[in-house]
Amino acid sequence: SGGTAAADDLLCRRRRALAASYRLFYDEPVHLVRGDGCWLFDADGERYLDAYNNVAVVGHARAEVVDAMYAQAARLNTHTRYLSEPVVEYAERLLAHFPAHLAQAIFTCTGSEANDLACRIATSWTGRAGFIVTKNAYHGTTTATAALSPSLHADTPASVRTVAAPNPREEGAEAAGRFAADVTAAAERLHADGVGFAGLIVDTILSSEGVWAEPRGLLAPAADAAHAAGGLVIADEVQAGFGRLGDGMWGFARHDLRPDLVTLGKPMGNGHPISGVIGRRDVFDAFGSRERYFNTFGGNPVSAAVGLAVLDVIERDGLVAHAGATGAHMRAELTDLASRHPGIGDVRGSGLFLAVELADPETGAPASERTARVVNEMRRERVLISATGPSGNVLKIRPPLVFDAEQSVLLSRALDDALTATEA
Ligand code: PMP
Repeated sequence: SGGTAAADDLLCRRRRALAASYRLFYDEPVHLVRGDGCWLFDADGERYLDAYNNVAVVGHARAEVVDAMYAQAARLNTHTRYLSEPVVEYAERLLAHFPAHLAQAIFTCTGSEANDLACRIATSWTGRAGFIVTKNAYHGTTTATAALSPSLHADTPASVRTVAAPNPREEGAEAAGRFAADVTAAAERLHADGVGFAGLIVDTILSSEGVWAEPRGLLAPAADAAHAAGGLVIADEVQAGFGRLGDGMWGFARHDLRPDLVTLGKPMGNGHPISGVIGRRDVFDAFGSRERYFNTFGGNPVSAAVGLAVLDVIERDGLVAHAGATGAHMRAELTDLASRHPGIGDVRGSGLFLAVELADPETGAPASERTARVVNEMRRERVLISATGPSGNVLKIRPPLVFDAEQSVLLSRALDDALTATEA
């Protein structure tokens, strides 16, 4: 659709009406009007394979989710200051997917809100204000969570300390221990500076750090270090959660972490804004004895009905195992591509969260500019992905969990062509 008069007109109106902080994907923007499963359709009826949306986890416009949303909206939508079945049932159903020590839920509307609240709770529990995040982390849009997101800007306030994320490719077996030692040192500095250490917050797939899933247990020593230093561990599952990694519902479980608080978002409502914090009962009790938390929209009956419908589909269709199996196929195809394209430096990830790192075959330097060209070339072939990592040289492949083996073949063919088209 890009390039047509209608698309140009919409682009002009968008630039006039929407603030400058918005960014579009792709050199040639895509004007989408409809979705179905893993397919997206533009204004001209052209079909695109969606290999990037982890929000539409059970597929775009999934009937069970739309029907549940409509049925509850047609009956009643209020908030959590009335007794209401859906929010309680949803909390019970969700908590059944967590270890016993994570016993209660608070619902919010965005991942940022969930992280913001988790930090408030950690500050309230510890009586301290300092947090540790990884160097290229992203945790949200609010003032507090933007401060926890060094990938957005250069300056972080004195209450936030950054540590280099573990990089098992460069650091090998030392990665987990080095990361833990840095967390200990940063916590000691926070204590020494009088700020105090409240918690470590970590994205359990390290997405903006370039996607690091292996080895299992990678994050466990750092979590132990955070606990030893008197802080809480907050597992940010906004990207990794709800089965995406293909071997369980949560990234923290792969790493044998024992988080005190877990934050959820993106896929939770398949596009409907619902998020939440799952945590220890004693920690929530202490917070609740001091503060009332009321979120007008968080946990409303329509959101709860949507969350339940998403969970129903994930459970009934066995989407966690499906993500594991489809992801394994896709990974084998990508690894095969790597044997034919020397520009691929690494293929990694877990389940349907895969990463293809592009590097100069001679020098090993990050091929950032080529990565952007590959993403745009694939968009021209109507396969949608994006890039991530501190150098922007990691192709990020993160389709809806209903992605199938045939679609995986289409994706790897498009990537094969895009790599060939961007050689030299
Ligand atoms: N945490 C992580 C790891 C994320 O990727 C994001 C969103 N990209 C957020 C938090 C914030 O979520 P939201 O955009 O829903 O506020």
